[in-house]
Amino acid sequence: MLITVAAGAEETKREIIEQATLRGLLTQAISDGSNSVVIAVGGPLPEELTVLPGVERVLKAHKPYMLASLEARETTRVQVGDVTIGGGKPIIMAGPCSVEGREAQIDVARQVKAAGATMLRGGAFKPRTSPYSFQGHGELGLQHLADAREATGLPVVTEVMEPGQVGLVADYADMLQIGSRNMANFPLLKKVGGAGRPVLLKRGFSATLEEFLMSAEYIMAHGNPDVVLCERGIRTADPAFRFNLDLNIVPGIKAVSHLPVIVDPSHGTGRRELVERMSLAGIAAGADGLAIEAHPDPDNALSDGYQTITPDALRRIHTRMMALFQVLADTEEDLAEITPIHAEDAVVAIMA
Ligand code: PEP
Ligand code: MN
Repeated sequence: MLITVAAGAEETKREIIEQATLRGLLTQAISDGSNSVVIAVGGPLPEELTVLPGVERVLKAHKPYMLASLEARETTRVQVGDVTIGGGKPIIMAGPCSVEGREAQIDVARQVKAAGATMLRGGAFKPRTSPYSFQGHGELGLQHLADAREATGLPVVTEVMEPGQVGLVADYADMLQIGSRNMANFPLLKKVGGAGRPVLLKRGFSATLEEFLMSAEYIMAHGNPDVVLCERGIRTADPAFRFNLDLNIVPGIKAVSHLPVIVDPSHGTGRRELVERMSLAGIAAGADGLAIEAHPDPDNALSDGYQTITPDALRRIHTRMMALFQVLADTEEDLAEITPIHAEDAVVAIMA
């Protein structure tokens, strides 16, 4: 259940959490975005706890992703260094698939920054389909990312693959990336819940919207409200594309969740010549930003070169993205409203 408690009612908040914990129920409290606190409780509580002083609202029927849902709060902006993701201008995070070396990472950081990116990406721990492929430079790669941040001021996002790596990656990165293949790695999601760093959660390439949001819920329920979702393409029967960018999910998520959503047209297409169009399509769908693989010499990139664009191509995308965003913002009231789906329509959560 979801219980909203007025900001000053500390005693009530404490009592609800204590009583829920005694019953073996997981609880987590987040701000409701104004002055109250909303507590997610993983099961039913006795009636008398729902009428304590300061209780403003009790929802027994709600989405199973309680904290991620619009029933908990209306909007979320995630802060990564001085970059704000969500509820405003779209942002671009860009960089190579893999961190390749110190000078190379600093050079690409300067180039993507000049092209309009405000965050730097690059994998140090790489989930590769083949065990014989380059697996990433590991901690050395993290150091190169930190050096590139130092040189450019761009906050860095990089993937963490295992629970045991979370502390190490969090020491270097400004944002932790959970890759598509790990979207349902629940021990990893729990661990990043306590990592004190914002999280970029990529959609599993066969995950449903609800499974995607339940993974975000894991992170939030374990203490981390700063989650950005990333659509990166799903698997279909069509061999013409590595993956198919599923842009339905952008307005689909915004109808039920307050979390920011960005789009990755690099993995989402697997073809660099499609990246510009699908970037713009993502922004038109309502995305809060883009994650793009960029490299000065894509054909010689250590991984994913075929879907990687040049900094010049990135600059063009940035310019057109901002122009498109402006047109959409100027005509916002003319766009079909996305009707938020609230509690009254919601499926009752099953808390087995
Ligand atoms: C990546 O962004 O580096 C990556 C491996 O993407 P995904 O997890 O979406 O395949
Ligand atoms: Mn890649």
